Amino acid sequence: MSGLQTRFTEVFGIKHPVMQGGMQWAGRAELVAAVANAGGLGTLSALTQPSAQALADEIRRCRELTDLPFAVNLTILPTLKPVPYDEYRAAIVESGIGIVETAGSNPQLHIAEFKRHGIKVIHKCTSVRHALKAAALGVDAVSIDGFECAGHPGEDDVPGLVLIPAVARQLNIPLIASGGFADGGGLIAALALGADAISMGTRFLCTVESPVHEQVKRTIVQNDERGTDLIFRSLNNTARVARNAISQQVRELEARGAKFEEFAHLVAGQRGRLVYEKGDPDLGVWSAGLVQGLIDDVPTCRALIERIVEQAETIIRRRLSDVLIQ
Ligand code: NAD
Repeated sequence: MSGLQTRFTEVFGIKHPVMQGGMQWAGRAELVAAVANAGGLGTLSALTQPSAQALADEIRRCRELTDLPFAVNLTILPTLKPVPYDEYRAAIVESGIGIVETAGSNPQLHIAEFKRHGIKVIHKCTSVRHALKAAALGVDAVSIDGFECAGHPGEDDVPGLVLIPAVARQLNIPLIASGGFADGGGLIAALALGADAISMGTRFLCTVESPVHEQVKRTIVQNDERGTDLIFRSLNNTARVARNAISQQVRELEARGAKFEEFAHLVAGQRGRLVYEKGDPDLGVWSAGLVQGLIDDVPTCRALIERIVEQAETIIRRRLSDVLIQ
């Protein structure tokens, strides 16, 4: 017998304690189905789709590619254009999705509605207080995003080494650790700190099935752990993005006290989308984490997940038992 069993694998009926986090523009059917078919929990990104109807179509397309469960991510953060959240939520419920990942602020109404329809909810957040609030609202699991993460790390700047056990100590539901994970060592570290699974974004962005241009994958492989910038600090909406000409320009503008309106055209998600489609990493801002320093190949999702689980098993059987004085 081999494999890893945790509260995450039991509660969500997923083979391996590995999740692919919701990623704007990348969380599409091809990637999500590949993660599901490899025994992980894949997550479609709702807001990647231009409308609720398009999301329903994408869910259908994903079901054609896998019979296994997958999740949908609904992120509630400031956007350039208002998002009809109720319509997206209705599309998720009506599509019969069994697992939703909510992320961002004020998820209360959405969590209540998903729970009312018997949907399991994972809430992704970046602080102990928000994890406890989500647990009190009845979520089935919390995904805690350390400061290392791509996307929005919050404003407290607490890395996973402290944040994961700080949440684990106070939570009695499954905990998923995200931010900085790419290999079996990370998975073992997460389990040791009290988590039940890892969630990875940047690592899955750099896989064969990831629907982004090969040049973006090569850039991630080439970048090291210093290849990110924090932008939007001045707006209380900090985002960690791959360092490039635009992220540097935005940082300079923010340092000079520029208002969001002055650089909104530079950071629009539609420009970030062009990076993924055309493969020029300087066309817009795009999310990537510190974990770029641990990524040096472009495996299939199956090879990646199997490698992570095998590395984790080897660490448990050999490295950890070797250091134990018997
Ligand atoms: P968008 O084009 O609407 O906005 C681009 C960026 O500017 C986003 O980071 C957004 O949060 C920020 N922004 C927009 N209006 C703002 C305002 N008034 N004040 C401060 N910041 C503002 O976003 P998009 O690329 O279409 O993405 C849709 C949503 O998904 C956004 O909320 C985005 O933040 C979110 N997202 C989340 C993650 C994550 O880490 N979970 C990753 C990528 C995108």
